[in-house]
Amino acid sequence: MEMAATILVCLVLILPTVAGVTEGCCEDLSKTLGSKVSYPASAAYNASIASFWSQQEQLITPSCVVSAKSVQDVSNAMRVLGPKSCKFAVRSGGHAALAGSANIQDGVTIDLSGLDWIHPFSNHSLVSIGPGQTWGKVYSSLDALGVSVPGGRDGPVGVGGTTLGGGFGYFATKAGFACNNIVAYELVLANGTVVNATRSRYSDLWMALKGGSNSFGIVTNFVFQTFPLGAIWGGDIYYNISTIDAQLEAFYRFTSNPSYDTNAGLLHNFAYTPEVGPLIVNQYAYAKPDPNPATFRAFILLQPQISNTTQVSSLETLSVNAGKASPNSFQQITFAVTFTNELAMLQELFTIWNSSTSEVSAVAGIKWSLTLVPIVPAITFHSAIKGSDVLGLSVPPQGLVLTLLSASFNSSDDYSMVNRVANRLSDKIIRTAKEFGVYNTYVDLNHGAAWQDPIASYGSESVAFLQRTAQKYDPTGVFQTQCPGGFKVFGLERNV
Ligand SMILES: Cc1cc2nc3c(=O)[nH]c(=O)nc-3n(C[C@H](O)[C@H](O)[C@H](O)COP(=O)(O)OP(=O)(O)OC[C@H]3O[C@@H](n4cnc5c(N)ncnc54)[C@H](O)[C@@H]3O)c2cc1C
Repeated sequence: MEMAATILVCLVLILPTVAGVTEGCCEDLSKTLGSKVSYPASAAYNASIASFWSQQEQLITPSCVVSAKSVQDVSNAMRVLGPKSCKFAVRSGGHAALAGSANIQDGVTIDLSGLDWIHPFSNHSLVSIGPGQTWGKVYSSLDALGVSVPGGRDGPVGVGGTTLGGGFGYFATKAGFACNNIVAYELVLANGTVVNATRSRYSDLWMALKGGSNSFGIVTNFVFQTFPLGAIWGGDIYYNISTIDAQLEAFYRFTSNPSYDTNAGLLHNFAYTPEVGPLIVNQYAYAKPDPNPATFRAFILLQPQISNTTQVSSLETLSVNAGKASPNSFQQITFAVTFTNELAMLQELFTIWNSSTSEVSAVAGIKWSLTLVPIVPAITFHSAIKGSDVLGLSVPPQGLVLTLLSASFNSSDDYSMVNRVANRLSDKIIRTAKEFGVYNTYVDLNHGAAWQDPIASYGSESVAFLQRTAQKYDPTGVFQTQCPGGFKVFGLERNV
């Protein structure tokens, strides 16, 4: 009895706070933003939710969606959400895999896909891009001007999330990560104030946004520095798995080449489906219209090949074709592990991945791929000359290998099981890399798993700086507590 009374008192004390978290948020937003706020079952709401990439994100139903069209809309929304302690999520292209990254159950999802402009400056050396724009459309606009930006590889992926998490594209060796090329961020702070962060104004924010993701405010415009780019060569070659030994040797030599050809971008994939079994898929990009780049010859000569889509084309074509391989509406799990480029480690990595395929072979619709991406000194050179970033990467002469899992399957019923296998695979890769003495703690935020902490992986100096900066511009921690999705600088538990 005494216990029941205590529980009742506690509930009475707690309820007004809990109710205050959710009640009236959407209604107050509607008063300010009118028809830009949409509710479940409306066409605008359904279209926004259906356009998330992963099924996990599509299954989350916010109380309302704010379809922002301008910085003013975002600022007005924050002036409501902050003081009312409303829970919210921020979404640009909606391509983060993890549930709750950019959508929120029973909260407010701010959809930035209407912030989709691409405005090149008159001499084309700079371009303003809205966070809701997608890379395929960015490349299409810029290809026509003979310039580009080093954004994501797949056409449908969003500019906002990619760029705030670093952003690793085909031509990072020509210009660095996407974040290294931002000269100005327009940012709405927790209290609705709009600031323009550049190297000389709000320089701490400018730096924090180069990898710090969504802990500081909502970015409503990026000014990118461009680099010259005309016609290119690229595409995919699918190979029989019997080529694996020669592939790994070629990958090791390509990545450790002291005269690395900075026109070249490569993704090397171990790809598995139960129907076809294991394959090797190399995705090539070359920043010139050379149909036979010498730097890729060791790969291109390998036989037997299954198919070949390489061609002289444009970055837009390459990114649109790449995007077709990753359709919306499937369950998705990713992780990221990094190690120093070393042939014995690469060989062991293949063995570990190959034996993991039998653990997922019965999962309906499974596609189980490990992508190896070279991080070479030419990339961090651009970071250094463009004012650095918070990623904390130091690249040895033989290069680093960024290893990314992509697991795609049909049903949430299999999520826990596949997640466990993925977690074990990641642990095994890390353990092996440590045994070989090649482990690197860097976790690419754009592919981080639920169990990973990419921001902590940047190192204690970056973490301290990011936490200081978040506290300075968001002293009450609105973006830490009311916006729980994504990877936070205070390492909050995510909505998974
Ligand atoms: C098919 C595919 C291909 C990919 N290829 C690449 C690649 O080549 N290179 C690479 O680096 N990554 C790549 N990624 C990973 C991709 O960069 C991340 O998934 C990224 O989060 C997507 O950005 P988005 O805007 O679409 O995501 P969203 O899901 O909209 O957002 C991701 C996170 O960023 C936050 N965020 C988004 N916009 C803003 C904003 N304006 N202000 C504040 N916070 C914001 C969100 O709150 C969320 O936490 C790929 C992903 C997929 C699915």
